[in-house]
Amino acid sequence: MHSPPCTAGNPGDFMKKVMLVTGAGRGIGAQVALMAGQRGYAVAVNYQNSRDAALDVVRQIEAAGGKAVALQANVGDSTEVARLFVEVDAQLGTLDVLVNNAGILASYRVDALDEDNLRKTFEANVYSTFYCCREAVRRMSTAHGGRGGVIVNISSMAARLAVVAGGTVYSASKGAIDSFNMSLAKEVGLEGIRVNAVRPGLIDTDIHEARGGLEKIREMAKSSVQMGRSGSPAEVAEAVLWLASDAASYVHGSVIEVAGGR
Ligand code: NDP
Repeated sequence: MHSPPCTAGNPGDFMKKVMLVTGAGRGIGAQVALMAGQRGYAVAVNYQNSRDAALDVVRQIEAAGGKAVALQANVGDSTEVARLFVEVDAQLGTLDVLVNNAGILASYRVDALDEDNLRKTFEANVYSTFYCCREAVRRMSTAHGGRGGVIVNISSMAARLAVVAGGTVYSASKGAIDSFNMSLAKEVGLEGIRVNAVRPGLIDTDIHEARGGLEKIREMAKSSVQMGRSGSPAEVAEAVLWLASDAASYVHGSVIEVAGGR
């Protein structure tokens, strides 16, 4: 079903398609990176703090015969993003797929607004996507002499469902991603770049630590998710990899919900 994502018949590493996954040391990003490595991409595994976890993702990809590098950068910082993309160019070659996955959760009422956290959340969830897409479009767009590419943005069901009290900051940051996704698709659709998003629902990752951890999320899922359970990072990664692949060649400006019918 999944043909190897090589740009030509030569199976050598230099012909592998190159995917950058932000925040790929843990959670959904790590699963996207591992699956991409299994399916023949050369993978740039970005991390901010989780160096050991990112190196472990790289080791697993290499152990399965794939190619990957771990690259540190805070993607909420434009200077670090510019450096990250230069490192991807140098270590893996021309970028084919960008997955904007890095993100953090914020959880407090608006009348208890933490200004520093508001800024950090938008830097991690929104600015990061702008900064990474700027670098990616400069490389991929046929208007810049590129050969096209794919961008997948990780949004959230929180963008369109007011699911928990204390969700304004996080929901608004993901709402921005939905709007950005749609507008960027219009901007670069004629330049060889497909742009889509995935809206995960309740997925079993460490992001929920601050609001009671996995047990609480799984309990919440029993009543709030039509399928009665939370999802796995791998279930989200499948949708990301499909959007990145040629199997989704006519899918553009879309959002896939991977949320068990939330
Ligand atoms: P995790 O907390 O498990 O992982 C978050 C990842 O983001 C980490 O790898 C972290 O890197 C990285 N990250 C955060 N800030 C930055 C930054 N400034 N620069 C680089 N990397 C950064 O969360 P998930 O895997 O659950 O979340 C992944 C994405 O999915 C996020 O965008 C999240 O909003 C979204 N999502 C998740 C849902 C869920 O239920 N889990 C539901 C809906 C959406 P490091 O550890 O190296 O610091």
